[in-house]
Amino acid sequence: MEKIKEYLKDKTFLKYLLYSIYILITVGLLFSLLSQHDIRDFFATIENKTFDVRQSILAPYKKVNKNISIISVDEESYEYLLGKYGEWPISRNIYADLITYLEKQKTGVIAFDLMFVKSLKSSNDADNKLAKNIAKYDNVFTSINFDDQSYELRKPVDLPDYLKAKVENFSKIDFKTGMLKFTNCRAIISQIIDTTPNIGHINLMRAQDGIARDLPPFVVYKGDFYPHLALKVAMKYLEQQEDLRQDNFVIEKNNNMKIGKRTIPMAGNGSAILNWYGQSGINNGAGTFDYVPMWKVEKSMYEGANLIPKDYFKNKIVYIGTSATSLFDLKSVPTDKIFPGVEIHTTFVNNILDDNFIKRVHPLTDIAISLLLSLFIGLVVIRSESTVMSSLIAILTGIIYAITATILMYFFNIWIGIVLQFVSILLVFIACYLAKYIVKSRDLEYTYALATTDGLTELYNHRYFQEQMIQNVETAKRYEKPFSLIMIDIDFFKKFNDTYGHQSGDAVLRQVAHILKKNVRSTDIVCRYGGEEMSIILTHTGKDEALITAQKICNAVSENPLKLVNGNDVKVTISLGVSTYPQNGETPAEMIKYADDCLYAAKEHGRNQVGNFAKEKND
Ligand code: GH3
Ligand code: MG
Ligand code: MG
Repeated sequence: MEKIKEYLKDKTFLKYLLYSIYILITVGLLFSLLSQHDIRDFFATIENKTFDVRQSILAPYKKVNKNISIISVDEESYEYLLGKYGEWPISRNIYADLITYLEKQKTGVIAFDLMFVKSLKSSNDADNKLAKNIAKYDNVFTSINFDDQSYELRKPVDLPDYLKAKVENFSKIDFKTGMLKFTNCRAIISQIIDTTPNIGHINLMRAQDGIARDLPPFVVYKGDFYPHLALKVAMKYLEQQEDLRQDNFVIEKNNNMKIGKRTIPMAGNGSAILNWYGQSGINNGAGTFDYVPMWKVEKSMYEGANLIPKDYFKNKIVYIGTSATSLFDLKSVPTDKIFPGVEIHTTFVNNILDDNFIKRVHPLTDIAISLLLSLFIGLVVIRSESTVMSSLIAILTGIIYAITATILMYFFNIWIGIVLQFVSILLVFIACYLAKYIVKSRDLEYTYALATTDGLTELYNHRYFQEQMIQNVETAKRYEKPFSLIMIDIDFFKKFNDTYGHQSGDAVLRQVAHILKKNVRSTDIVCRYGGEEMSIILTHTGKDEALITAQKICNAVSENPLKLVNGNDVKVTISLGVSTYPQNGETPAEMIKYADDCLYAAKEHGRNQVGNFAKEKND
């Protein structure tokens, strides 16, 4: 107990205790806020934006896999094809011929990011020809799409078993009820479904802000898993290049899915966060996917035009899709507001091949980093003498942290949070400043009290008395109101000291001071004038009232037994003198002199009384 009291007296200890409490309250507040669903969503949305910014900064420095090519129906191709054939979509014969053309060049994998749905515009012959050509080669892939369309509008078809994926899920990802469960399927022509297993889904994930940051490797339909087209394409390519054959997929407890030696880390919602490269059409394709417009391919196929080098597509993955704005397959992604859907696929394939998916760190890691940063900022604020310096350090810490987080994303493909960390830094900075301010103002108060009070009696000291006298004279002058002064001296105190000792003298001084304070108004100012002399300034008080107060005090002291240090009772008396502004003096000195003279008169008249100098003079 004594030790605790000792500690509490120690001001630095108290200071740090206060700071710790503040930091704890701040962090606690932050986390209780974060337990709120809406607020967490709000934070997540901003965190996503920081991801987008980081990805946009880093995209130009990433290298794409040069074995991925896109044949794209871009603006020019769309205009050309529409002009030549007079319709869109173009005949499926052309896609059938495209397969033949690419196979001749020994293309590695051919993937259509196009849905060959049942259409009145498409002739049965063309459908059959395309289906036959797809089935003929084991490296041609096409797509289906799942949705939640109502049963009345479209009957959900049963899909053949060979389209399903064998997935063993040991993680907490809930495929069966989460966002990845679909109740309906937009089927493509049965000629294709019935003849090839090379069909993958092309469902997209969008965050609340409409931006696609990730792709689901699997979706669930009628209780079965279906793989993404891009996953199937990548698996085929790895089979060709590395002889990797993997029939079933295992999602480990930590949400990781192994593809041979490679890893697809999945987020809690079952999708894989993509590492983005930016858009091919923009920047003239520099650093991004190899991109061939469809019109060049068409002219090479049918007119023998020499627009594409020989064996250009050899051993490559060739994705066929659209990027013309009028064909509407455009999405918002972290790096670009308008981005062709087909490039989301190639990004996914590239991430698998280069094993560079983004892994979001565990929430506890983010929390731990936030706490460390908070502690650091808290210490900086507490220890730093200069506000400018500590705020500069706080800002710099934030900047350095953001840069570090970006660099880590580049080199290790990890996504560590920024928002929670920034908010913690800011809150702790503010909290510590508040705490510091409070400590400082308390220090000031303490110093002020120390400078104006007397240590022994805890009355105001002589200096404060003089200040107040000047103040009261000025106020009284301005408002033409009186005020009074009582001077007090303990009788025979020298003898008292000699008889009972100095310590008892001190004790009695304290007790007399206490009696004085108890017998005046709270606005009156009781001071220790010096030695065993005390003074009281009675604000807004005229002579008569002051004399009554003085007499009351005189009686109170003489009637009250006081305690000696040995516990025995003793009685002392005091002599008093009163002066009033303006009749007894118009300056502090004059007033003190008059009161002193009265006090002297009291002593002369036998002590233990209020002296009357005027009467003395008249006598
Ligand atoms: P009187 O005023 O009635 O004429 O007699 P007195 O004995 O009180 O005379 P005087 O005012 O000259 O003596 C003041 C004494 O008060 C001197 C000193 O011993 C004592 N004294 C002054 N300050 C203190 C103090 O802080 N503590 C103690 N114990 N004694 C003090
Ligand atoms: Mg004296
Ligand atoms: Mg005295």
